[in-house]
Amino acid sequence: MPEDVVIIGGGPAGSAAAIYAARAGLKTLVLDKGVTSGALGMAGQVDNYPGVPRVAGVELVRIMREQAQSFGARFKQERVTGVNLEGELKQIYTAGDLFETRTVIIATGSMGRAAALPGEDALTGRGVSYCATCDGAFFRGKAVAVVGDNEEAVEEARFLTRFAAPLYFVTRKKEPPATLPEGITPVTGARVTQINGEKAVTGLVVQQGDREIQLEVKGVFIYLYGNRPVTAFLGGVLPTDAYGCLIVDENMQTAIPGVFAAGDVLCPQVKQAVVAAAEGCRAAMQAIRILSGETASSRR
Ligand SMILES: Cc1cc2nc3c(=O)[nH]c(=O)nc-3n(C[C@H](O)[C@H](O)[C@H](O)COP(=O)(O)OP(=O)(O)OC[C@H]3O[C@@H](n4cnc5c(N)ncnc54)[C@H](O)[C@@H]3O)c2cc1C
Repeated sequence: MPEDVVIIGGGPAGSAAAIYAARAGLKTLVLDKGVTSGALGMAGQVDNYPGVPRVAGVELVRIMREQAQSFGARFKQERVTGVNLEGELKQIYTAGDLFETRTVIIATGSMGRAAALPGEDALTGRGVSYCATCDGAFFRGKAVAVVGDNEEAVEEARFLTRFAAPLYFVTRKKEPPATLPEGITPVTGARVTQINGEKAVTGLVVQQGDREIQLEVKGVFIYLYGNRPVTAFLGGVLPTDAYGCLIVDENMQTAIPGVFAAGDVLCPQVKQAVVAAAEGCRAAMQAIRILSGETASSRR
């Protein structure tokens, strides 16, 4: 049975959309790659979200998700890797699954990044990857480095322990994460200065204080964040502006009927959790209208 709505991203925009959609009785599935991967999940203390004074960002996301779950929304920890938005039933792909849905709300935020490490661009798909579940198996028995500072990087490294050996965890932080599994070699206080290779990755150069370290790896999995709308998984099927931000109409609808977007992926002038949540609400309300056969409202 298809979903009524699949929400891609479970930050404040996606979770608020899930609260409204599920409470209205829609069969609601949220696909989210990790609670600490979004902007709010990375925020330290949040003091300005109405009704929830002084809370860690990650805790605020959890509260929102629990509220959505209490109305029947389901959350799956999955990274969306592709979509087919043509036709009545839209298809959403993850590394191992396919989900069908009548409407879609895109709420993936803007914590993406352009290739930034020297050598990264040229070697993407030739040893440089951003998804352990997608590409980990290509590195069975090979040396691999994970580059990143957050829990998503740790989770991806944990997955790679099934395949890669040796496995390095290169982090800018001074201490390795407490959750880093045994058997992974941390390289702390370190900055990548070069990914080596021509046709494929042959190594990684890392600056650690005054020391330059050469890691002879065949794979580099990168989980560093910048500030770009996360839309690569859409494969260019939806219009964006010059900065890569998704474009929606006054109903939060993209160029494809039944496909909505909300939150930082739209690059709003004010990037705040309360704004993202409000947009998630508006997107969900329009999805509810369309699914109940009403025409979308143009009232703001
Ligand atoms: C360090 C920091 C501090 C901040 N402090 C505050 C503050 O104090 N108060 C405030 O109001 N705002 C704060 N903000 C801004 C606020 O966090 C954002 O405006 C808000 O989180 C945007 O919500 P969102 O749901 O659009 O995106 P996000 O919160 O970024 O959530 C996007 C979600 O999409 C998921 N996702 C992304 N790609 C995929 C994919 N391919 N498949 C599946 N899931 C995916 C991510 O895992 C994430 O959970 C802060 C931001 C940062 C970075």
